[in-house]
Amino acid sequence: MDNISNAVEDIKKSYAVKGTTDIGIINRILGNEGCRISTYKKAHKLIKAHNLQSFTEKYRAFTYNYNDQKIVLHRDELKDEQLIFALAHEIGHIALGHNEYNKKTEAEADEFARLLVGLKPKQSFNKRIVFRIDIIISIIATITILISVIMDMRNVYVTASGARYHRKDCYHLTNRSYHSITIEDATENGYTPCKTCRPGTIFFDFVLSNYVERHIVLTEIPLLYK
Ligand SMILES: [Zn+2]
Ligand SMILES: [Zn+2]
Repeated sequence: MDNISNAVEDIKKSYAVKGTTDIGIINRILGNEGCRISTYKKAHKLIKAHNLQSFTEKYRAFTYNYNDQKIVLHRDELKDEQLIFALAHEIGHIALGHNEYNKKTEAEADEFARLLVGLKPKQSFNKRIVFRIDIIISIIATITILISVIMDMRNVYVTASGARYHRKDCYHLTNRSYHSITIEDATENGYTPCKTCRPGTIFFDFVLSNYVERHIVLTEIPLLYK
């Protein structure tokens, strides 16, 4: 693609383009190349007479050779940056001497336009896919962690004889047999929360439990369903 960057550098030099290429420069380049520019609407007679409707449906812009005159036609409703890119693409075809339009020449004209208007090269397809998979995996991981934390909060522990329900690591459960039960079932069955481990509240200590002593409760948020 070296010939493309050389062609862009040539154009930039001869038109003294510094930094970004604006629509004024694009128009000047096309004018100097002997091109006329028109929107599809303005050129509707030409488009009809020369059977170019299929091009206007398929392309944002295209160059038509008519009596040795190049006419660059483009959609009426393009945004500024779309128009600049579309016209820069057509300049690319002209500057690179393309006389046929295929995947290779289209890719070259796109590359030319990106360089001329100062856009970064296209990210490779694989990179974009990997990037998305990365995001999806981290979203799934976050959701899984949140669900497991919430599910864990929903489960409390009761002993055969006790009237309280507990968190799993409550010392009231040590050396006793206990089983897990949902907080709703525990409440329905007349169990009340243990005052030591205070199940059913988020203590933020699922993160800090190893560092903060259980009885120093800094913040607690009642669970919504309580
Ligand atoms: Zn093209
Ligand atoms: Zn307890």
